[in-house]
Amino acid sequence: MQISVDDRGYYGRFGGAYIPEMLYPNVEELRDQYLSIIATDDFQRDFHHLLRDYVGRPTPLYLAERLSEHFGVTIYLKREDLCHTGAHKINNTIGQILLAQRLGKKRIIAETGAGQHGVATATVCALMGLECVVYMGSVDIQRQAPNVARMRMLGAEVRPATSGSQTLKDATNEAIRDWINNPVDTHYIIGSVVGPHPYPDMVARFQSVISAEMKTQLLEATGKEDPQIIIACVGGGSNAAGAYYHYLNQPEVRLIAVEAAGEGVHSGKSAATSVLGTEGVIHGSRTLLMQTADGQIVEPHSISAGLDYPGIGPMHAHLITTGRAEAVSITDEDAMRSAFFVSRQEGIIPALETAHAFSALDHIQYNSSDVIVINLSGRGDKDLGTYIQHIDRFQPENAIR
Ligand SMILES: *Cc1c(COP(=O)(O)O)cnc(C)c1O
Repeated sequence: MQISVDDRGYYGRFGGAYIPEMLYPNVEELRDQYLSIIATDDFQRDFHHLLRDYVGRPTPLYLAERLSEHFGVTIYLKREDLCHTGAHKINNTIGQILLAQRLGKKRIIAETGAGQHGVATATVCALMGLECVVYMGSVDIQRQAPNVARMRMLGAEVRPATSGSQTLKDATNEAIRDWINNPVDTHYIIGSVVGPHPYPDMVARFQSVISAEMKTQLLEATGKEDPQIIIACVGGGSNAAGAYYHYLNQPEVRLIAVEAAGEGVHSGKSAATSVLGTEGVIHGSRTLLMQTADGQIVEPHSISAGLDYPGIGPMHAHLITTGRAEAVSITDEDAMRSAFFVSRQEGIIPALETAHAFSALDHIQYNSSDVIVINLSGRGDKDLGTYIQHIDRFQPENAIR
């Protein structure tokens, strides 16, 4: 089975572009031009120059010796936490801002949940001197104050989304409304492999630098380009898409997609879309989403704002329903335990999203001779406010209190 998107943006039966008529001109313009613009020497030169000198790529592939010893298997970490702004998200915003410039756009809009994508967008807008408006649910504005401050420091306007649950899904609705009203001068930078075609494919291509580097780095470190297993957490699915991309058509490489089970998959407070989701349309694409029998979106829950989304990108819906990827659901509590464990085992404080990926090591089968790569999607600075609330429960026996 060949895994790639067709020219209408479908991965199997998932994907496409389900958009209101008012959005057609914007989405058509992108669809017509994204592949030819990305392919130009000029674009490739600017993209790779900025990834190297501004983002700090290639990010290291780090052999985690103490984790490897603990789990009895070889574990490498792909260090996206070392990217400028602290996560993989900037790979995509660099690509999209270069595209927006070439389309002659003067104004950038984005949606954000935890604020990581908002910060990555505000960053590239400052870099290029473009106006930036970031939509964010008013509840998230309260919960994620440090990232709101960063966006404003960078010169972006943060506009609250006050409808619905006042979180990511509502911010996305507001951004789409803005784009409809400003079709000529504005580009909408979507932050994950979600939305109407061509966004899922475009974002996956920009993030695919992760697996391109992994192949070179693994060859150098182990003598082979391919690991046995790649593990990544999945909110919309962009860091996972980047980590899987150049391995999609190698079925011998196992792909593990780690979702947030929240308080438990069947607790009613979960974001485990691959288990609970059914087929439907959300934010412009046909995919798996958490919905009631009559199509109302079910509010998701996860302790990590980056995984707290009721849908999943169409590529991942396809990978999981065809069995190419294995889905694992991790609870808030297990992710929290892994965050403290990894911090003390390796001296790396992971983002709460990434902590879910580490926790999957307790839930999958592997052989001791396997090489496992975990995509370390981001650093945990933004989550310290949450971590500190749990720190007393995870003190080592002999700690000084
Ligand atoms: C946003 C984010 C995620 C989730 O988004 P994906 O598109 O699924 O990658 C995961 N990890 C970190 C650190 C994030 O900031």
